[in-house]
Amino acid sequence: MARIAIIGGGISGLSAAFALEEKRLSGAAIEYVLYESAPRLGGVLVTDRVDGCLVEAGPDSFITEKPWAADLCRKIGLGDQLIGSNDADRKTYILIHKRLVEMPDGLMFMVPTKILPTVFSPLFSLRTKIRMAQEWFHPPRKASADETVAEMVKRHYGAEMVDRLADPLLSGIYGGEASQLSVRAVLPRFAEMEAKHGSLGRAMLAARSKMMAAKAPARPLFTSLRDGMQQLVDALVARVDARSLRTSVTAQSVIPQNGGWTVSAGYQSDHFDALIIAMPARAASALLQQADQNLAAELGGIAYSSSVTVALVYDEAVRRSLPPGFGFLVPRSEERRLMAATFVHNKFPHRAPENRALIRCFLGGPEVEQTMAYDDDRILGIVREELQQILGLGAEPLFFRIYRWRASMAQYGVGHLERLLRIEALRQKLPGLALAGNGFNGIGVPDCVRSGAEAVAKVLSGMGLWSAAAPRS
Ligand SMILES: Cc1cc2nc3c(=O)[nH]c(=O)nc-3n(C[C@H](O)[C@H](O)[C@H](O)COP(=O)(O)OP(=O)(O)OC[C@H]3O[C@@H](n4cnc5c(N)ncnc54)[C@H](O)[C@@H]3O)c2cc1C
Repeated sequence: MARIAIIGGGISGLSAAFALEEKRLSGAAIEYVLYESAPRLGGVLVTDRVDGCLVEAGPDSFITEKPWAADLCRKIGLGDQLIGSNDADRKTYILIHKRLVEMPDGLMFMVPTKILPTVFSPLFSLRTKIRMAQEWFHPPRKASADETVAEMVKRHYGAEMVDRLADPLLSGIYGGEASQLSVRAVLPRFAEMEAKHGSLGRAMLAARSKMMAAKAPARPLFTSLRDGMQQLVDALVARVDARSLRTSVTAQSVIPQNGGWTVSAGYQSDHFDALIIAMPARAASALLQQADQNLAAELGGIAYSSSVTVALVYDEAVRRSLPPGFGFLVPRSEERRLMAATFVHNKFPHRAPENRALIRCFLGGPEVEQTMAYDDDRILGIVREELQQILGLGAEPLFFRIYRWRASMAQYGVGHLERLLRIEALRQKLPGLALAGNGFNGIGVPDCVRSGAEAVAKVLSGMGLWSAAAPRS
């Protein structure tokens, strides 16, 4: 019987456990143990119920374009629970000089594809609009060294585009800065489009025309689950072998021994043939220190950022007073602690009763470590003050919840892809080891799901136990 340990019970580790369970059910002679230091499984996927509202503490949805999370949901019987974002009301505002300005129609990520809405939008200065027109003639650029997203966007559209769109959009996704994140790791499509078409505008338009010619049905931008992201965790936990799950058990060390791995966790050591580490790369670095210092150093070089999410529930009068749309983003130049806010009652209407407004705020940026240390009242005070200034929202929330996420979002810096190659080369020297999680090939939930399944494929093929054959049930 081949024994496999998984360390980390977030969505990456649970996806790995589920993939192993599928193999076990299809007759593979394997058993697995998943160690999770927290008392609950799911990592940053946490859904609460507050005053009839469904509150997501971490991710609220996943991007529809990446299929792996939705595919997993279908596989575990949640296909009929998948819901799309309410894109009919999809409007996002950017805070510019203390005023909310609507993002113009036709922006694909940050690339303008419709002329008129962009020309008339107060979001950009005349100078940037001229740059946008000139961008149309940007010559193709041979793939060269990696650069930051800010550098690439600046080359195409100028600095204002970085400040007003690229940076806020990336803070919303990565909690990071456009001036730090690698374009090749974070926006690989942009690097490809530039190499092939030169102009990002022309490339996006070509992609859109192709999609329209293929008559692909319009899909919602975001997908989620009716009862929240916790539903995915609960369904996975129900599908894996309960005897394999060890919660409230922290793995303290992993040592390669006798062609396998000795894992010390809690007060016990156990020997396994293979090991899947499914936790933030920085934590994985500490765990692998004894096994391979070079690998540990590479993993430790992947930066992580922290964030705080604050959910506020308001009454019907507030709901009526709020602007339509999904919410707003705040550029760094506005010097706020709030980076973004989502009007959940518009994005996923059934998540708040009709007489409630549910606003979810994100705090991040350079001051977030300091903010995390504040008590709840102080954080609430900051959020309320900024909502008052931005939305004129002075009302007292009926309820609120605050969640602190320390070092949970990986920041792929320039050279990340080269680092991944070095990590892979070092990993291959340690037999039976696979790495999963948001530190490597994508931080979104779908990427993490895929990383867990791929880690299983790696360790099982190393043991000659992998075949892509469909499981029995
Ligand atoms: C606030 C927030 C909002 C987000 N929003 C979105 C979104 O809307 N859409 C989207 O797609 N993605 C979003 N993400 C990103 C995505 O949710 C995460 O990247 C993903 O869930 C990470 O999953 P994971 O399993 O790799 O890591 P984690 O969820 O961090 O799980 C790792 C687990 O390992 C455990 N662990 C750590 N050390 C040990 C140890 N020594 N022994 C045992 N266990 C250990 C931890 O307790 C934890 O449970 C968001 C993330 C955050 C924080």
